[in-house]
Amino acid sequence: MDNGYFALQVTPNVAICEPVIGQFFMLKPGEAIDPLLLRPFSFVDFIISPNDKYPNGLLMFLIGAVGKGTNILKRLAVGNRLSVIGPLGRGFPAVEDDENLLVVAGGIGIASVLGLTKVYHGVSLFYGIRTKEQIPDTEWFKYTEGNYHIASDDGSIGEKGSVLELLERYISQLRKSYSGKIKIYACGPHGMYKAMVRMNLDAEVHVSLETPMACGIGTCLGCAVETVNGLKVVCKDGPVFNLKDIIWDG
Ligand SMILES: Cc1cc2nc3c(=O)[nH]c(=O)nc-3n(C[C@H](O)[C@H](O)[C@H](O)COP(=O)(O)OP(=O)(O)OC[C@H]3O[C@@H](n4cnc5c(N)ncnc54)[C@H](O)[C@@H]3O)c2cc1C
Repeated sequence: MDNGYFALQVTPNVAICEPVIGQFFMLKPGEAIDPLLLRPFSFVDFIISPNDKYPNGLLMFLIGAVGKGTNILKRLAVGNRLSVIGPLGRGFPAVEDDENLLVVAGGIGIASVLGLTKVYHGVSLFYGIRTKEQIPDTEWFKYTEGNYHIASDDGSIGEKGSVLELLERYISQLRKSYSGKIKIYACGPHGMYKAMVRMNLDAEVHVSLETPMACGIGTCLGCAVETVNGLKVVCKDGPVFNLKDIIWDG
């Protein structure tokens, strides 16, 4: 991939609990002092395959190289060691059989929700990006069985415009034949979430807040957010929250 995204595969050297989609891991290359802090990343996929090659399974990440930590991770070679803490936080709640799940991603937010397409096979994915070059390898979308809808800002792929307009149209179409609960699980920029609030979508919306964080375990309080239930830390109380519980500043 030459769009700034890269895939990272990690083979844990100890057994880890099976993570839930939406949970995350704190990663840092080797013993290096700089950068000092581990960085949070959702996992895209986790394979439990107790075989000779992966005795403790395999964790897969999709990462956008945006700064110091991610660029160091991008340059890692096969066999390099990483510090890994996780799984951390609360993932997306389970979806009941009689509920209809729609998955929404904006930009690199795709990394946090793509795993849902494997857990809930064939679920509809709505993906908004700026331009065609920004899209990760479509091999990543295999679990959707082609059931994905793309919108791009410049119209170079999918529909030109906002992915939320696509989503809204899809929901009103779905409502003609389905009156049950629609759940939307989303990850993207905060602007996308605020737009979702304004649209007052006919669905229960859960979002992953990718707020920068330092410790990942609820001690530094650097990732606190205001909710209708008081201040919550994204790393421990989230990163997944019910959209209606979040109080947005501005
Ligand atoms: C729960 C969670 C899950 C995440 N999952 C993924 C993932 O699966 N894939 C992925 O690519 N990224 C993910 N992120 C974002 C990722 O953690 C940051 O991109 C990363 O920490 C940046 O580190 P850096 O050292 O490269 O950048 P820095 O040098 O620390 O910062 C570079 C620039 O990126 C900005 N930045 C840093 N962190 C964030 C952030 N969280 N959101 C927006 N801007 C930020 C900084 O303000 C700065 O402008 C996740 C974040 C959270 C909180």
